[in-house]
This record gives sequence, C-alpha cells and structure tokens, in this order.
Amino acid sequence: MNLKNAYRNGTERLRTSGVPEPELDAWYLLEYVTGIGRASYYADPDREMAESRKAEYDRCIEARSRRIPLQHITGEQEFMGLTFHVNGDVLIPRQDTETLVETALDLLDCGKSAKRTEERIVRLLDMCTGSGCILLSMLHYAKCRTEGIGSDISAKALKVASENARRLGMTAGFIESDLFEKIEGKFTMILSNPPYIRSAEIAELQDEVRLYDPAGALDGKEDGLYFYRKIISQSPTYLEDGGYLIFEIGHDQACDVTGMMRAQGFSDVSVKKDLAGLDRVVYGRYIR
Ligand code: GLN
Repeated sequence: MNLKNAYRNGTERLRTSGVPEPELDAWYLLEYVTGIGRASYYADPDREMAESRKAEYDRCIEARSRRIPLQHITGEQEFMGLTFHVNGDVLIPRQDTETLVETALDLLDCGKSAKRTEERIVRLLDMCTGSGCILLSMLHYAKCRTEGIGSDISAKALKVASENARRLGMTAGFIESDLFEKIEGKFTMILSNPPYIRSAEIAELQDEVRLYDPAGALDGKEDGLYFYRKIISQSPTYLEDGGYLIFEIGHDQACDVTGMMRAQGFSDVSVKKDLAGLDRVVYGRYIR
C-alpha cells in the first residue's frame, strides 16, 4: 500500500469512529510512524510503505478509532515549546495551562523577556504536578535562580514527572504527598492546576478525556472547588512573606476562587483569561 492510500484509509476509519479531526490525526499518526514530513510526502505520495510500517500505522489508527488520545499513542505532548512524555497516569498538558505558566513568569518578573538576575532564589511548589509540565517549564524559562518541587498524590504520575525532568535535563524535587501533607518549608510561589471538574459533569466530557485522562486529575468533587478550598486554607503556612498562590481554574470558577482567596487574607487577587477569552487563572499574594 502506498502512503496516499494508507492516509486516506486512516482518515476514513477515524471519521467513521467519530474522531473530531480525522484528517489531522491520521496525518500526525502517519508522520509519527513513517517519520515522513509534509514536504517529503507531497514530493512522492505514491511511495510504497514498508509492510511493517503499514502494520504499525494500522495499529495506531485502530487505537485512535477507540478514542485513545493521540498523545497516549505517540507518548508525547508539547507544552510551552518543550516536549513532555505522557501516558495514562497523567493529565495530558493542555494549551490553556500555558496561560498559568506565562502569568507566573510575569509575576516573578523573570520570564523570557526579563534580564537574568542571580540575586534571589525563587522557590516554587507545583502542587498536583502530574506530568510536571508546569514546574519544568517554569524552571526552564525563569531567568532568576529557581528551585522547584512538584508534589502529587500519585506515585505513578511522579514517575512520569521525574522522567520528564530527566529528558529535559533539569533538576527538580518530586514528593508524593496528599496536598500539603508531606510538604516542608516556605515557597516564593505555589502553583497548581488541581482537579476542578464537578463530579456530575465528568460523564459529559469527551471520550478522550473521560475514558483516558486519569479520573483523579479531573474530579474536583461535588462543586468542583474541593481542592481550591484545601489549598487556599493551608497555603499561607507555606508561603514566604509576599509569596504568590496561583491556580488554573475552570472558566466559571473565578468568582468562587477569588472570593475564597480574599476571605483567606490574600491581596492583589486577580483573574487572567486564556487565549479563548475565558477566565483561566487566579492569583494573589500573601502579605503577613
Ligand atoms: N482542563 C481540563 C479539562 O478541560 C481539566 C483539568 C483539571 O481538572 N485540572 O478537561
């Protein structure tokens, strides 16, 4: 079978299975299996595929037709321009979450455009770190001296996060902890993208998310705010004077989360929107 026919069949198979963007996913998988990019493909679309490549492509298409996310098939997701290894033990990094990282870098005033400064050590805690994408991209892009810890209740998630640190050649600490249970010391900034979907709404999520993202990374319990409540009430003990607490939130949670932070004594509480114009990030400072 040649490339063109394989791609066409792959696309049709995904379309029949109700995959949202069949052309795109069939293309990514073809590129993943053959290593052939667009330019090379269009130079000779009638090229025959090796039997073993064709079998591998069929296997990938079959997996995707069962709505297994593309990222679980390729084992990768790009986030903040870095490549993260992912599997079913971690939430696949979302583009929305880049808003959290960009806002955090701006707050620390040591983001991509800042001058490098060696003056202070910025201590970061990424709570519910999952793949480690938030922590590791902060450490990668921050131009000040940074130290970081990622915590998660899931040992399996931490294995993925450590593997990502290793692949990216970065040093970070990873701690298995139920929220602050095993956390010690004070931090300049606590970041978190906790589970925030209301339990009753999990059933309505698309198959890729509902079936293949870990339920523990999504479920924010009854009102979706369980983890915000806990983290907000305990974080003052773990923040340096003037330290920041910064969250990703669901698009309809800004009012509740800002309210809780103000009630807990946080100042400068603010909301940032994502690229789609939806409320996505809430942050504030704890000044003693
Ligand atoms: N943003 C994710 C989603 O839409 C949810 C992530 C979370 O609960 N932290 O599925």
